[in-house]
Amino acid sequence: MPEIKNCSRCNKIFMYVSGLRLCDSCKKLDDEDFERVRQFVRDFPGATVPEVSKETGVPSQMIYRYLKEGKLEVSDSSPIALLCENCGKRIKSGRFCVDCSKRLANEMITAGKSLREDYRKNYGKPKKEEAGLRYLHGERKKGED
Ligand SMILES: [Zn+2]
Ligand SMILES: [Zn+2]
Repeated sequence: MPEIKNCSRCNKIFMYVSGLRLCDSCKKLDDEDFERVRQFVRDFPGATVPEVSKETGVPSQMIYRYLKEGKLEVSDSSPIALLCENCGKRIKSGRFCVDCSKRLANEMITAGKSLREDYRKNYGKPKKEEAGLRYLHGERKKGED
């Protein structure tokens, strides 16, 4: 169910559906940040998180977040240390290694599913649905004013 929340980035009130607590405009900025990070990491796969942060202007914690969310992958040679939260094994993306993911998938099938759905909702949506969301925000704002 959508609910009214404050954007975690600009503090503006918006209709929160799921995933990141960002308003529409901040979600766009966040996407742009991610795009810069993604391109930089692609061009300089060996860069560390502080280097990526410095060059892209995107805070380190955001870059870690992209990694945790599985949006960004580190290369084999990358010094970015991303560890499985369960067993501590080095992983390339996400929060758990393949073995732990499989095991945890059985235990946390609901949580994992909603996480994946959040990701799809935020980043895997076709343009058409995004336009629909913007329309919803516009409607809401008009009503509030
Ligand atoms: Zn915002
Ligand atoms: Zn593991």
